[in-house]
Amino acid sequence: MIGKGVGANMDMQGYIEEAEAALLHTYNRYQVVFDKGEGVYLYDIEGKKYLDFVSGIAVFALGYRNKEYNDALKAQIDKLIHTSNYYYNVPAIEAAKKLKEISGMDRVFFTNSGAEAIEGAIKAARKYAYLKDGTTDHEIIAMEHSFHGRTMGALSVTGNPHYREAFEPMIGNIRFAKLNDFDSVLEHVNEKTCAILFETVQGEGGIYPATEDFMQKVKKLCEEKDILLILDEIQCGMGRTGYMYAWQRFGIKPDIMTTAKALGCGVPVGAFLMTEKVGANSLAAGDHGTTYGGNPLAAAAICKVLELFEKENVLANVREVGVYLEEQLDALVAEYDCIETRRGIGLLQGLVFKEPVGDIIKKAMEKGLVLINAGSNIIRFVPPLIISKQNVDEMISILKQTLV
Ligand SMILES: *Cc1c(COP(=O)(O)O)cnc(C)c1O
Repeated sequence: MIGKGVGANMDMQGYIEEAEAALLHTYNRYQVVFDKGEGVYLYDIEGKKYLDFVSGIAVFALGYRNKEYNDALKAQIDKLIHTSNYYYNVPAIEAAKKLKEISGMDRVFFTNSGAEAIEGAIKAARKYAYLKDGTTDHEIIAMEHSFHGRTMGALSVTGNPHYREAFEPMIGNIRFAKLNDFDSVLEHVNEKTCAILFETVQGEGGIYPATEDFMQKVKKLCEEKDILLILDEIQCGMGRTGYMYAWQRFGIKPDIMTTAKALGCGVPVGAFLMTEKVGANSLAAGDHGTTYGGNPLAAAAICKVLELFEKENVLANVREVGVYLEEQLDALVAEYDCIETRRGIGLLQGLVFKEPVGDIIKKAMEKGLVLINAGSNIIRFVPPLIISKQNVDEMISILKQTLV
């Protein structure tokens, strides 16, 4: 019988033991095997229900089992899943057009992941500088505490030595400044600087939003010196801050931006986008490629996601429920001595504790609430963007039961 394999009818512990025997141990996973999802809830294979405030790390923005989204994917599967980038396909054309519209950027390259979008952004910046002066020793300024992914280029610009150390040497010519400290950026700028790269809101590093002042000063500096501003919107983009892309709040525009996570709402896809200036003066035919990137299935997901964002007024919901979440979290800060502060924008929030939060997250899981950390002392809140105020109340009530 199809589906009755080795593990059929095993309990959760049995599956976990099999997983640990087969998978490379690169994650300390929570002791749960999820089976299905419905809206903002997940169910494990034993039928237990969980309120999800992680959404697959800021991915499942529209919630689980959205009928229109699922139907669109099923239809595309029956039509055409993959062709290769040597040919055109209609979903990718539509997805690129829509992405241009919502971002105001001019050129799109689809990737399979966030890290791969960062790789492309770095290559575009280096090629842009190379075409200007013919030299190859250009530098990129990235930020301390940043996170840009696990591939070698993305790791090279990730400002956390712990992630990089065992994998040295990195790609080289990367300097690290401090987010929101413009003088620290100036200290590293020289005639070799080709790009300044940072997350508009640092995610993994602890939910640190870039300030208006920092953003404006860096943008001005980049314009004056023809340095490319690269904004990583992989986690903070796609509506999470109440804007389609977090930088749109500042009335400025990057030269290159990266997007992924919620872009496909579960189908693995990312993109890097650029202005016409960069597009016309960087990567050309033969310079970059990918087998899967922007294949019809992934592109159909993007098209439907962007359509549903509009139809379901996702941004308006984030702005309303985001403020409510902030208020409720601020009330916890006031009430509990173990909590230091709250940081974040919209539905990307962090609660900073005085002690490690691992045990709180484990207890929450037992009580049917999925949470995740960002660094050892911070609980990160990245729920589906369709959550309601009642869902926030439900989350707060369970979270309180885990706090003493
Ligand atoms: C998750 C993330 C990445 C890496 O994306 P992957 O799809 O895991 O490769 C890069 N930058 C930021 C800001 C992220 O949050």
